[in-house]
Amino acid sequence: MTGAAQLFRTIFGGRPDGVWAAPGRVNLIGEHTDYNDGLVLPFALAERTEAAIRRRDDRLVRICSSQNPQQIFGIPTRELAPGWPAGWAAYVAGVPWALETDVGFDVAIDSKVPVGAGLSSSAALICAVGLGLNDLLELGLSRRELAQRTRRTENDYVGAPTGGMDQIASLLCTEGHAVLYDVRANSIEQVPFDPPAAGLEVLVVDTRVRHGHADGEYAARREDCERAATALGVRSLREIGFADLDSALGRLGSKRLVKRTRHVVTENQRVIDVAAALAADDWSSVGELLTAAHASIRYDFEASCTELDIAVEMLLDSGAAGARMTGGGFGGAAIGLVPSALAYEAEHTVRAVFADNGFTPPNIFTVVPSAGATRIA
Ligand code: ADP
Ligand code: MG
Repeated sequence: MTGAAQLFRTIFGGRPDGVWAAPGRVNLIGEHTDYNDGLVLPFALAERTEAAIRRRDDRLVRICSSQNPQQIFGIPTRELAPGWPAGWAAYVAGVPWALETDVGFDVAIDSKVPVGAGLSSSAALICAVGLGLNDLLELGLSRRELAQRTRRTENDYVGAPTGGMDQIASLLCTEGHAVLYDVRANSIEQVPFDPPAAGLEVLVVDTRVRHGHADGEYAARREDCERAATALGVRSLREIGFADLDSALGRLGSKRLVKRTRHVVTENQRVIDVAAALAADDWSSVGELLTAAHASIRYDFEASCTELDIAVEMLLDSGAAGARMTGGGFGGAAIGLVPSALAYEAEHTVRAVFADNGFTPPNIFTVVPSAGATRIA
């Protein structure tokens, strides 16, 4: 029995009608570009969030999670509206709201995706429930439509102004691939991504420094980007091509907006370059682009932190082909593209340096590009 099904039996009694699982993701490259109509290249983790769901005959939604065992919610569907419930249960309650269904159900959640690490436990949770309700209630939404609806859960119900990458990754990734998502074109392309075949591992260093998207910094970066686009007279920073960057920067009065714009425009180009380097099996270029992306986030976008910078530096010192922070930033995780033979040593080095600095011991693990959300029971 799955973890979620077990919790379901303990809390609600009996068996769920089904269990759905949706993965967290690592964003290989393309950070803070999705809400600028730009390009991203995430892949799905093997680590998943499970939602065990049973339809009810009335209009009540009951919610519980192994990760928050002290709280069980019971809410009539007619009361579902942004603001209620607050906190973690909003990620679940906002799904039927976004799917515009008033059918009652019981749902038990259990997750192996680290929470708040920049690996998108939020979208894993939302998408597990979303896919489950879509199947169970026969709503007939395609995965693309489901990604759009479930993004509304996070943006409009929870109130986190994230771009669309996380839901796309959780629902549409496939094993052995990263997904190139072009937000402006609303197109996706599966890009073969198989580091082990090249003798490499993607090592994740979760610094355990916790961000909160509600904590203003993410929203402040988003506002900077909107201001820069307005000042440049474009709909979004995606409209500024790499070739036009210098002239665009010359038209911005604010030094801060220059830096934000330079990050977004160069980062879009790096996503294209990484996809091309992967197609050419040119892993050293992939690595260099990841490292360049970290410098850009650190100095121009100012969305890194000391722990992330040290993790990146130590991964590179340990022989990584490239390393960068991943996710929204201000904490969370870094990734390194590390030769498999050096992975153990790299982990040891990062742990030792974190200890020397008096940082919280990091969580370090290898990830493999895995499939998107599925029904598992
Ligand atoms: P990330 O997506 O990087 O993990 P977010 O801040 O976007 O970080 O989302 C984390 C939030 O999602 C948590 O604070 C919690 O509210 C909710 N969440 C994620 N997974 C679970 C879970 N298994 N049980 C309950 N809440 C969860
Ligand atoms: Mg998230």
